[in-house]
Amino acid sequence: MLGLMQHWPLLCHKIIDHAARQHGRREIVSRSVEGPIVRTTYGEARARALRVAQRLAADGYRRGDRIATLAWNTARHLETWYGIMGMGGVYHTLNPRLFPEQIAWIMNHAEDRCLFVDLTFLPIVEKIASSVPSLGRVIVLTDGAHLPATALANVVAYEDWLAGADGDFDWVSLDENEACGMCYTSGTTGDPKGVVYSHRSNVLHAMMAAQPDAMGVNSRDVILPVVPMFHANAWGLAQTAPLIGAKLVMPGGRMDGESIYELLDTEKVSFTAAVPTVWLMLLQHLEETGKKLPHLKRVVIGGSACPRAMTEKFEKNYGVEVVHAWGMTEMSPLGSLGSLKPEYAGLEGDARLDIKEKQGHPPFGVEMRITDDDGNELPWDGKTFGRLKVRGPAVASSYYGGAGADQFDADGWFDTGDVAHIDQNGYMQITDRAKDVIKSGGEWISSIELENLAIGHPDVAEAAVIGVAHPKWDERPLLIVVRKPGRTVTREALIDYMAGKCAKWWLPDDVAFVDEIPHTATGKIQKITLREQFKDYRLPTA
Ligand code: ADP
Repeated sequence: MLGLMQHWPLLCHKIIDHAARQHGRREIVSRSVEGPIVRTTYGEARARALRVAQRLAADGYRRGDRIATLAWNTARHLETWYGIMGMGGVYHTLNPRLFPEQIAWIMNHAEDRCLFVDLTFLPIVEKIASSVPSLGRVIVLTDGAHLPATALANVVAYEDWLAGADGDFDWVSLDENEACGMCYTSGTTGDPKGVVYSHRSNVLHAMMAAQPDAMGVNSRDVILPVVPMFHANAWGLAQTAPLIGAKLVMPGGRMDGESIYELLDTEKVSFTAAVPTVWLMLLQHLEETGKKLPHLKRVVIGGSACPRAMTEKFEKNYGVEVVHAWGMTEMSPLGSLGSLKPEYAGLEGDARLDIKEKQGHPPFGVEMRITDDDGNELPWDGKTFGRLKVRGPAVASSYYGGAGADQFDADGWFDTGDVAHIDQNGYMQITDRAKDVIKSGGEWISSIELENLAIGHPDVAEAAVIGVAHPKWDERPLLIVVRKPGRTVTREALIDYMAGKCAKWWLPDDVAFVDEIPHTATGKIQKITLREQFKDYRLPTA
């Protein structure tokens, strides 16, 4: 017997329809690329998205076409997403922090036909356009007055282009399983791989993200997604915020402490999300100026492990709740969030920080398990660690073009490449990337746990731990440290500081001090480069 309920396809443009109808005057505030703060609303964003869709259709773009964006978080970028999806196109976010050749590789792989680009990134496009034969129009997200001279063919200013459409357009009717968006993983192993989101997966993900124990946002919140739309869909906030009708504050290209503080303060932001690096800059700015955060209630921190000291500062010094989150481009991206279940809600001090250091528990819509290398499921005891596998309606079922097929099990589980343990209350903690664990005498040492310990030292600005070859133990940990300006902490002092806080045999065999630690385009420590840099390093214990 079938249910007798309506078939209402889950289509992304229904989100902006709902926002415009129910929350039409709610503001979207952007720090524009041209400079000034610009205010618009969900009502206007929908009207302009319709014009984007109409204009794209008039230009000959069709259902299924990949339309790339190379842009900061602004209202214009948001409108283009909804316009692209609403004409049946597939938005393809490009990460400007990649090398131009990598961007060209990704555009060719996806066969992008059109590109929306911010003024900031026009020089990148000038460099690569001739090597992307599928590329047609290049639409610069500005007005005619700000469009610089360029040798690029087929360039137009967004506002001039948009003026050619009156918005008298009906969203294209689609199957909810059709593609609506694309994002490539940054390719820390091999070539980047394309993740293809469907309308259905994005709508379900937006609803999952809004759950009270996930992002837990509502229409009274003011949301600042510092995490870029090109970094795994701004963690879903470009869809979750209009879905629930929250005011949206878009930071444009400025993510330094002072610029972020200004938006938090003037727009009375209550909820924000970004990677730890951004929050290091903000906390430093607050410490230097003595400013406070009276409006901010909650900050989601993820993308890489949130240091314990960061959680402590936000919660103790500024009264802001930290929600540690984990996810991946392949998961749309949310996988788990660290809100407190009743079992942990009463904890204080170190016991609370112990729980906040974990990456949290999955919302409804994500299933999780850990297995050994043979695929046997491991117990949830908070100690035993193994390969983390996930499944759900917003988890990739394969990569574009069939790459990386070995990451997808026959029974529908996706192998995340992360190593984790899960406790009896369902809280997951990442202990490493599978390729970064240090294998010492047949046992595993978690590089992330050691990094978290080292970063707790007051003189340490940043820390990375890698395995270095050792004649007896196979590999032993080397701690690589960037000191805070003017600080002089020594190798011995650091190892003393860490002793007693982890198993004795986990302690790094040596410490190397460097001026800078290399990062990937999504802000993670680039371990491949570090391993290369230190491949001939001789440990004093060797
Ligand atoms: P990339 O393509 O650079 O890997 P993603 O954002 O998809 O970009 O990265 C996903 C990976 O980032 C995860 O598999 C995990 O290793 C790491 N990661 C994300 N959030 C966290 C976190 N809170 N703690 C530790 N690692 C994290």
